[in-house]
Amino acid sequence: MNCLFCNIINGLTPSTKVYEDEKVYAFKDITPQTPVHVLIVPKEHFKDINEVKQKNSSVMTDLFNAVDMVAELTGIKEAGYRVIINNGRAGGQVIWHIHVHVMGGRDDLGSMIVKE
Ligand code: 5GP
Ligand code: ZN
Repeated sequence: MNCLFCNIINGLTPSTKVYEDEKVYAFKDITPQTPVHVLIVPKEHFKDINEVKQKNSSVMTDLFNAVDMVAELTGIKEAGYRVIINNGRAGGQVIWHIHVHVMGGRDDLGSMIVKE
């Protein structure tokens, strides 16, 4: 399987690391949409939320523990930040390796969903 985020985890594709532990890897988004925009991925490949559930994995806990670490390391913990998972086609997922967006560094991140 050729997966961009698996390649980032194993170092085949370069990235700017923010945090890493046994279960997850966090790195800067290549096209940041906020001053702080970090992606956190599980080291094990899961396509989406449904696959995490099907495999009965506890990786969501690992991901959300890492969210708090990343917020602390990037200095956005106190002010607050937004956590986004784009899940599936209609959710706007374009990379099919589940990932959490941690976004902040601005005083007001604006409305949650842009109304069309
Ligand atoms: P999605 O829409 O799937 O939730 O978000 C995918 C994210 O991956 C986008 O925010 C995009 O900017 C980011 N991205 C895509 N390719 C790369 C890459 O090669 N390196 C990094 N660091 N981020 C990437
Ligand atoms: Zn992958």
